[in-house]
Amino acid sequence: MFVSRRELILTLYRWMTRAQRAQLTKSFEKSCAFPACILFYHRVANHAKNGWSIRNKNFERQMDWIQHHATPASLDEIRLSQLKGSRSKAMVGVTFDDGYGENCEFAIPLLVERKIPVTYFVSTHYVETGEPFQHDIANGNPLRPNTIAEVKRMASDGIEIGAHSHTHIDFGKSLGKKQLKIEISDVRKKLQDWTGQSIDYFAFPYGLKANITQVAIDAVFEAGHKSFVCAAGGFNLPGGKANHLVRCHGEPGFAAVMNWLTFDPRKVYSRSPIEFQNHDLQAPTLRQKTLVVPESSHAVLN
Ligand SMILES: [Zn+2]
Repeated sequence: MFVSRRELILTLYRWMTRAQRAQLTKSFEKSCAFPACILFYHRVANHAKNGWSIRNKNFERQMDWIQHHATPASLDEIRLSQLKGSRSKAMVGVTFDDGYGENCEFAIPLLVERKIPVTYFVSTHYVETGEPFQHDIANGNPLRPNTIAEVKRMASDGIEIGAHSHTHIDFGKSLGKKQLKIEISDVRKKLQDWTGQSIDYFAFPYGLKANITQVAIDAVFEAGHKSFVCAAGGFNLPGGKANHLVRCHGEPGFAAVMNWLTFDPRKVYSRSPIEFQNHDLQAPTLRQKTLVVPESSHAVLN
């Protein structure tokens, strides 16, 4: 089995910080203040490997760990415990972005069978037209997006559908009102029509600070979403934001995801890099704590 240098470094870092992780877990238990970690995946498949795909067995191994060592939770459960300000167990959310057809072959049946809550964010243009995503064309491997029938089937199987814009646009660009309507409120209406569900969550394509603007956030809430999610990496501390949930990448290997799920002491209390006006309705109730991370582990990670 091939193990990358990054996997080795993260495994070593996790081992070196095991005492801090155990100390954190104890303090979360005592104060009913477990952070929630929300993972985002794109594509689960064994062929056409790329940076946004994970092999079937690796995905299953991650789901096994979550089921045995944490509590799989929906975005609503995580959002409500953010508002409540306490969380007595380590909740983990599972989400998908874009909408790849192959997810319906292995990942979605596995999640449905195991009753693991999922929010599946789709970009409606690709679902409607069947056109591959630009990033897959550029990568030389035009992959099949989900069909409308697959999205409807997932919804009827209990999967929550979320909005991921119409054309997978970068909201960091300056967009006019008309385009914001096409990319946000029209998508919500369309997905509600397809699925019969209330579409409550919006995932910004690319999901980093540079891809999210105040005007787009305002449009997301005006359209009726409860919350938006980003891809900046980080934890959701109870009492922190409920209408902006932070997610971590469900990387193809095991070490990076384990590093998040066992509470990386360098990241637990770090602030989200994405801060905007009028969407921080709840003041964090947890005070930042100083944690001692071995100097040597900084060196390993840099
Ligand atoms: Zn995307």
